[in-house]
Amino acid sequence: MQKTLLQWYEANGRHELPWRNTTDIYHIYLSEIMLQQTQVNRVRDEYYPQFLAKFPTLKSLGEAPLEEVLSAWSGLGYYSRARNLHKTAQLTQGKLPSEYKELLKLPGIGSYTASAICSFGHHQGITVVDTNIARVIKRFYALLDANAKNIDTHAAQLLNHKESRAHNLALMDLGSLLCLPKNPKCDICPLREQCRGKEEPELYTQTKKTKYESLELFYGIYIRNNKIALTQTEGSMYKGMLELPSVEPLEEDFLRSFKHSYTKYRLTVNLYHLEEIEKKCIWIAMDELHAAPISSLVKKALL
Ligand code: SF4
Repeated sequence: MQKTLLQWYEANGRHELPWRNTTDIYHIYLSEIMLQQTQVNRVRDEYYPQFLAKFPTLKSLGEAPLEEVLSAWSGLGYYSRARNLHKTAQLTQGKLPSEYKELLKLPGIGSYTASAICSFGHHQGITVVDTNIARVIKRFYALLDANAKNIDTHAAQLLNHKESRAHNLALMDLGSLLCLPKNPKCDICPLREQCRGKEEPELYTQTKKTKYESLELFYGIYIRNNKIALTQTEGSMYKGMLELPSVEPLEEDFLRSFKHSYTKYRLTVNLYHLEEIEKKCIWIAMDELHAAPISSLVKKALL
């Protein structure tokens, strides 16, 4: 089965992904962090090359001011990832450790990222279990209600110790190209013969529906001498970022409203024109906004 899987991967795998064609551990690490919440195509075509053009080494990332890093991360969301990358770059002084346990001690590196760095970067014989691989494992072994530990144990049973890196990448691609959450393509799957869950694959991977929360937000826009007033965010989610000053719902000077989604939130954002401002603010020239650490919500409101 391992051999069939590798043959399938050789012919069908996503070998062109840039982070699969590098030995630079920082590049592999960066790709894993970006891929946590962002689609592969967008990471490959936009964010990964742009970020590396600005910060080509982990050392250069650690030496850059946090605001610059957050600005380069703009559009990717989940800004704690950028703050943790920056912290890790500073703590390691540009050189990541190669041991799984040491990697786990670094900010923002959990068990998945540590194992991905060890397997994809250092070719260590270790299992890597992302959501795609977990889905394959659950179906392959017909595991109902399996927890993470259970899935890890089964993934370890399946691991090809001689070709662990290719094996993990093959399972990942199989999950993303064939063993899809809905309507998996079992008829052309190389694991079909041995797969115990192929008769009812979706039974093993039923997911709970995400509950969305609706929120209404109110922001003011105040421009003076071609500069806009922004404020420093306070919540931990957007820490270090700049946002529009929040206002109380107003009767007058309404500009427009728009919809925006963020994690589990479905936001209605209302914008108002302000004649004056009481809050302490930071003035950013309108033509420098693109380089400021602002979220995609603020971009949507202004650009
Ligand atoms: S046979 Fe179907 S359910 Fe089993 S691993 Fe392949 S695609 Fe997934």
